[in-house]
Amino acid sequence: MRQKIVAGNWKMNKNAEETEDLLNELIDKLPEDTQATIIVAPSFVNLASAVQHLEFTNIAVAAQNMHQTDSGAFTGEVSADMLKSVGVNTVILGHSERRSYFGETDALIADKTSTALRNDMTVIFCFGEELEDRKSGNHFNIVENQLKDGLFHISDSDWEKIVLAYEPVWAIGTGETASPDQAQEMHAFIRETVRSKFGSTIAENVSILYGGSVKPDNSKEIFSKADVDGGLIGGAALKASDFAAIVSGI
Ligand code: 13P
Repeated sequence: MRQKIVAGNWKMNKNAEETEDLLNELIDKLPEDTQATIIVAPSFVNLASAVQHLEFTNIAVAAQNMHQTDSGAFTGEVSADMLKSVGVNTVILGHSERRSYFGETDALIADKTSTALRNDMTVIFCFGEELEDRKSGNHFNIVENQLKDGLFHISDSDWEKIVLAYEPVWAIGTGETASPDQAQEMHAFIRETVRSKFGSTIAENVSILYGGSVKPDNSKEIFSKADVDGGLIGGAALKASDFAAIVSGI
């Protein structure tokens, strides 16, 4: 059940009115006949209205983060139950900006993943090496450890709710994208790493997205690679025509 997926991570962009405007443009411009699953991830405060706005469309809504505890005295945080109660069933976890700016460790991301799965949510699990790791040739080790420490505690059946998103940190927001061959090489390695622990069926069925400076002019070639099942899009997801072009190219 490997799916093609294009997800837009809006990060900390778009107020309420701008969110509504962008959603309207997306409804207008996105191809209706696409085979791909389309997801947008606006900020927390705009999730409920986005879900309402997108009812009767083929666009799903995801959160960009979530707390690892079900409820309690955690000022400023948002729980899985809160997300589900407004119709959000998917959450992005482990994004490199959460790791680097908010100190999220593999252990914390593992906890968040467990909580999301226990609440029957789909997790878009992000990971990827930094520039120094790639320069020193350590990128495969880093990626393998992020997977093992953040994700490999889950059960076989949990994999139905997992989407992997490989996002090399050096390609995020930099305009420098991994080449299609670099993406394919890493995606094949990721699938092999999943296969070695969970077997071929799970490895073949899991969707692996690429993220990092995906734009309309490079998406098609990246998506054409055998182990690349779609993209997690940042900057280009903020412009409806670009996001629509990326979806059309899958
Ligand atoms: P950019 O597409 O802006 O490089 O961001 C990628 C990303 O971080 C998506 O989560």
